[in-house]
Amino acid sequence: MNTDRFTSDGKLWISVSDIVQFYYCPRKFYLMKIGLPRKIMMKMDFGKKEYEREIKRIRRREEIFGFRREDVEELIEGWSEVDEELGLSGKLDFLLKVNGELIPVEVKYSEFRRPKLEWKKQIYAYALLIERKTGEVVKRGLIYVLPWKDVLEVKIDGEDKLKIIKDLDRIRRTLERGELPKKVNSAKCKYCEMREFCG
Ligand code: SF4
Repeated sequence: MNTDRFTSDGKLWISVSDIVQFYYCPRKFYLMKIGLPRKIMMKMDFGKKEYEREIKRIRRREEIFGFRREDVEELIEGWSEVDEELGLSGKLDFLLKVNGELIPVEVKYSEFRRPKLEWKKQIYAYALLIERKTGEVVKRGLIYVLPWKDVLEVKIDGEDKLKIIKDLDRIRRTLERGELPKKVNSAKCKYCEMREFCG
């Protein structure tokens, strides 16, 4: 058994990015997990550069993701956690502490200006990791969308976090079955990095 891929009690490690890919398209997730090379799309590359530029700008702004700088107690870039019991790991773009409240923030480069399901799942998964690590309840997260500079709020309740635990089982079962999931047949295929292997 490859111990890097499994927890000490034998669960396959799942990352928050895996959850995002699974909710984008289970077939894409599966193709990526079996190790096929991912094609870097021009949009992804441009988005990454724009993200890096924005990160530098954020640190100089008077307002940080919609909050006044003086209200932000902490701004942790790249907060990460590895939860052995859940077999879940993740690296968040930013963890904010505002008036005592912990708020996960993800930065996206997208034409979409509303939170997509996979973005919300990402925020729920980080909320679960943060809560289990710190003992603090996380009630909302933010998605900062470039190039628009929209700050989208995602409310989080206990059920959303419980569903992530069920998602982990579902995702592991998908891999254990060893069958390529069905195609999604949607506009998503246009932007998919695994399109050439999809068949
Ligand atoms: S091309 Fe479409 S169906 Fe195929 S993996 Fe990508 S998103 Fe899924």
